[in-house]
Amino acid sequence: MEILVTNDDGIYAEGIFALSRALKKCGRVTVVAPDTERSAVGHAITLSDPLRVTEVRRNGAFFGYAASGTPADCVKLAIRSIMKKKPDLVFSGINLGANMGYNVLYSGTVSGATEGALLGIPSIAISLATFVDPDFAAAAAFARKTASAAAKNGLPPGALLNINVPALPAGKITGVSVTRQSRSLFTDRFDRRTDPHGRTYYWLTGSLNRDGAPADSDTAAVARGSISVTPLQFDLTDEKLLGNLANWKFK
Ligand code: MN
Repeated sequence: MEILVTNDDGIYAEGIFALSRALKKCGRVTVVAPDTERSAVGHAITLSDPLRVTEVRRNGAFFGYAASGTPADCVKLAIRSIMKKKPDLVFSGINLGANMGYNVLYSGTVSGATEGALLGIPSIAISLATFVDPDFAAAAAFARKTASAAAKNGLPPGALLNINVPALPAGKITGVSVTRQSRSLFTDRFDRRTDPHGRTYYWLTGSLNRDGAPADSDTAAVARGSISVTPLQFDLTDEKLLGNLANWKFK
């Protein structure tokens, strides 16, 4: 199996190292990832600047290609130019921080996988639900299991899975739930600060609001210590409003 690995935390992040090492047990891994952190860039691509690509070594061995672009750029570039053979699977992560609910719209990690899906390749995003003291072992092991399961069961071209792993030791994880996307969003707050020159600046912060997330959702599953696997799609059409709008007289 030919696997493309990307992320949005950058090629030097710990999570992508853990993911690529785990996936090497199920296939040939090519890493193409942003040269610096590009978290929360969503599905942005780079049009007004060239993309520079450099070979990166980690722990004394060739690790992958760093590109001066976004996760979506990296996947496009890998599939269109860098890889000799189209990958059978795209894997994005392991992200530092969960990507659940409506919040996935901002996620560079999910967008790396979405780009793979748009190009017709089964794609998977994986995130660890913590920003501090990450232990990627359980998430990496689950990524390897999912890649093997995808090879065995077959994922249709364009399938997109969003995996979120609770920040717990493997023995404390309560199970695996197939979930729907919740409507959870971050409760935004801007820290208003003053720089050393006396000028005001703002820094966005907040936390995921889990209120009202249904039991069968990604947010609820991770909250009860379960790994969440959500199949996503990117046809954003509002079917209900579609019928209603048809009755408007646009003249
Ligand atoms: Mn990130």
